[in-house]
Amino acid sequence: MTDYHAWGVTIFPDDGTDPLIVLRADLNLVESTEILAHELTHVIVGEKEEHNEIFELKFEELHRVYDEIANTIKVAK
Ligand SMILES: [Zn+2]
Repeated sequence: MTDYHAWGVTIFPDDGTDPLIVLRADLNLVESTEILAHELTHVIVGEKEEHNEIFELKFEELHRVYDEIANTIKVAK
């Protein structure tokens, strides 16, 4: 079941077209990098894999890279 109250969601269309990732627009930089890494992990591991060990390993790998990128971005105040 899809949780539409989540900060992000990955949709795998029934017609087999490319997955669609939807993120909330009001996420801050730290949140958005974590949520985008999470949703991209769903795309990488595929629709059949849920939040299992394979998912977590790939997520940690991707999230680490996204954190490094986020840390290089200077946010205007
Ligand atoms: Zn998820």
